[in-house]
Amino acid sequence: MNGPTLPGHHPSAGRPPAGETDWDAIFRGEFVRRPHCWKTCDSFCCKPTRVTQHFLFLRSRGVDLPHLPGEYHYLETTGHLQAGFADTFTRHRLRLPNGRTMPLYRAVCTLDGTCSDHRYRPLVCRVYPFMPVPTLDGDLERTEPTALIDIFWNALETSGHPCTITEMDADEWDAYRALCRELFKDPVNILYFKAASIYKNTIMDSVRRQYPELLEQPEEIFFSRWEKLLVMGKLYHPGEVLEKIAAVCDGLEARLGRPLALEGT
Ligand code: SF4
Ligand code: SF4
Repeated sequence: MNGPTLPGHHPSAGRPPAGETDWDAIFRGEFVRRPHCWKTCDSFCCKPTRVTQHFLFLRSRGVDLPHLPGEYHYLETTGHLQAGFADTFTRHRLRLPNGRTMPLYRAVCTLDGTCSDHRYRPLVCRVYPFMPVPTLDGDLERTEPTALIDIFWNALETSGHPCTITEMDADEWDAYRALCRELFKDPVNILYFKAASIYKNTIMDSVRRQYPELLEQPEEIFFSRWEKLLVMGKLYHPGEVLEKIAAVCDGLEARLGRPLALEGT
């Protein structure tokens, strides 16, 4: 489940950062950069038909790309949304049991690996395949597979992750960590990344606990059955996930000594 070991990483304790993320700096940098890596995997992260061809109910064309609220506003106001994104953006409200609301921005990308403006591809694409998971203090705790469909590859007995980027060198991790420090200056971003991790790991834990035999199946059978279980609501209880996210929100606010600046609440 976890990504590779992060060389030279020493989490530090303390209050969470309470600044604003410099989105210019985020988009000037590269979390994971391997030019032409798409040639090794038929652009799996942009075109995951190897998995989605086995789905009946979930989208079979395009990739759902969540955006952080700050990221979305930056890309929109600077005119750097990818082609077609403005037409597919949705904004849902996630209501937490502690009374707070998290807006969820998502776009559907059907560019199949041909970003209209590669420098400004979304954050979720920039960190792939290593999604950062921060501590409440904004330190980089670990990485884990970025997409929900990717958290199973390490556990599947018959297939490995189609992404061929499995490691980065020390300099690359240093650059990655520097960008994470910028990203997690804003505690709102900490909340969103921890929420994504909670959601994915709750589903992973449920598969391991309730349906371990699935992990022994070939990937086509695994993903076909997994999709049905997910759609039928067998893999997680929304209320339980929301409780865990609210606990993170409460923890961040307790550390900050003030409410998080969540849009719309
Ligand atoms: S799946 Fe991995 S190797 Fe393939 S294009 Fe995406 S980042 Fe590159
Ligand atoms: S925005 Fe670009 S990198 Fe991201 S999924 Fe679309 S084509 Fe791939």
